[in-house]
Amino acid sequence: MIYYKTAEEIELIRESSLLVSKTLAFIAANLKVGIAANRIDIEAETFIRDNGGVPAFKGYRGFPATLCMSFNDAVVHGIPSDKEFLETDIISVDCGVVLNGFYGDSAYTFAFNNTSEEVHNLLRITRSSLNIGIEEAVVGNRIGDISFAIQNYCERKHGYGVVRELVGHGVGRSLHEEPEVPNFGQKGRGPLLKEGLVIAIEPMINLGSRNVKQMDDGWTILTRDGKPSAHYEHTIAVRKNGPDILSDHSIIDIEVKNNPEIMDLSINC
Ligand code: MG
Ligand code: MG
Repeated sequence: MIYYKTAEEIELIRESSLLVSKTLAFIAANLKVGIAANRIDIEAETFIRDNGGVPAFKGYRGFPATLCMSFNDAVVHGIPSDKEFLETDIISVDCGVVLNGFYGDSAYTFAFNNTSEEVHNLLRITRSSLNIGIEEAVVGNRIGDISFAIQNYCERKHGYGVVRELVGHGVGRSLHEEPEVPNFGQKGRGPLLKEGLVIAIEPMINLGSRNVKQMDDGWTILTRDGKPSAHYEHTIAVRKNGPDILSDHSIIDIEVKNNPEIMDLSINC
């Protein structure tokens, strides 16, 4: 069952999504070589609670942390550990909160300074693919139009691997609602996009092949070939006048620009 949201409900989801974005911006300001991932996780939880929210992932099906922090060949669902950040790391940070009964969900991939141009391109293209997918999120289109646009751009145009096993989703009073929003598919297929549909679009794009495996921690998804993977996510609403992006990457970009240890890859996005 797909729940279409009222304008008032969309504003509440915007508040939740903006708290997620502010949390990711806070993280962007605090990422530093030598700091442990689980220290950032604890600080993020404090930040969310200080702002009146509750971390959405902590306890979700037993997930033990506030953030999913997925390093390098980890695609998504990495558990923050005492692993310290290296200047050669990329890290996808995925965050969800619940505030006033509604969820927000967004992700951003950070690259430390000593990462390769090949990886920077993967991050730029993945981020561009999110924007290309969002452009298709208009009344009268179908989910497949979003899916096709992302797949076509990443796979056919750039030769990257598009992960099939994990997909975007509806967002609202639950973290994961219908419909599923795959990053691969065919134009004109799938549920019709109507006013008030709120979805998380989240391309998970691999430098190498699309194949993934799960680690024996029961959570972390890794690329099978050990090559890096990138992940960006926005919560968006389908509105009469076009897609309305409820989360905000621009406030994260500002902190990235100000953090000398993190690459600014926001140009051309
Ligand atoms: Mg997410
Ligand atoms: Mg999501």
